[in-house]
Amino acid sequence: MLVSAKEMLTKAKAGKYAVGQFNINNLEWTKAILLTAQEQNSPVILGVSEGAGKYMCGYKTVTNMVKAMIEELGITVPVALHLDHGSYEGAKKCIEAGFSSVMFDGSHYPIEENIEKTKELVGICNELGLSLEAEVGSIGGEEDGVVGAGECADPNECKMIADLGVTMLAAGIGNIHGKYPENWAGLSFDTLDAIQQLTGDMPLVLHGGTGIPADMIQKAISLGVSKINVNTECQLAFADATRKYVEAGKDLQGKGFDPRKLLAPGFEAIKETVKEKMELFGSVGKA
Ligand SMILES: [Zn+2]
Repeated sequence: MLVSAKEMLTKAKAGKYAVGQFNINNLEWTKAILLTAQEQNSPVILGVSEGAGKYMCGYKTVTNMVKAMIEELGITVPVALHLDHGSYEGAKKCIEAGFSSVMFDGSHYPIEENIEKTKELVGICNELGLSLEAEVGSIGGEEDGVVGAGECADPNECKMIADLGVTMLAAGIGNIHGKYPENWAGLSFDTLDAIQQLTGDMPLVLHGGTGIPADMIQKAISLGVSKINVNTECQLAFADATRKYVEAGKDLQGKGFDPRKLLAPGFEAIKETVKEKMELFGSVGKA
């Protein structure tokens, strides 16, 4: 059964650990993450970007696949199915398709418009018992063609959005999507601290979790981060393991070309990455 992310994140914030959001791209990805969460007895959030949703033949396909997999694999840990960086229209579509959680990324709108649209979605999500993530201060990265220092959100704007009744809040604190450049300045803990001071119990979300050093992750958790998004790292692990398999010529041996064999090393690599992250975030055994 899918659950909203509210309870798992409230517990995480109180218990000073974070729940990982791992983005999914296909069946193998989803299965690897769900099995690892069950093995580690950890709550988990499956992230779906609008692009990945389209790739997987639409949100309905995704919801049905995830629900069926939870049942068939006997997954009993809390699982939230969450739209990542949703547009206003995308959020509505996911709600209709049965997602248990959505992110509305209104960070590119002027703050007034971000507030207005977020407020409307808060009403809808509350009524349906879904969790809603909002964003303040855009998080840069390769995705948007911006590479360099990530932006820092205005803590007062964070408070305005938090007060609308969202479940969790993503704020730019110098983090970026994708791989971090060599000259990255690191996370701005002053900004994070100021945001937490103003937003209190609100679980904060750290995007761009790939490649942030472990000590920074732990410090961020101690300052109120309760959800950490990981996407690129699983992609890199999958690609690396798959490349090694092919480069070793294993697809040319016997039935090594069978997709169930060809994709197996990448599948295991995702499992290993997810396990490492759950250990780092402290969510193991917290289901
Ligand atoms: Zn993000």
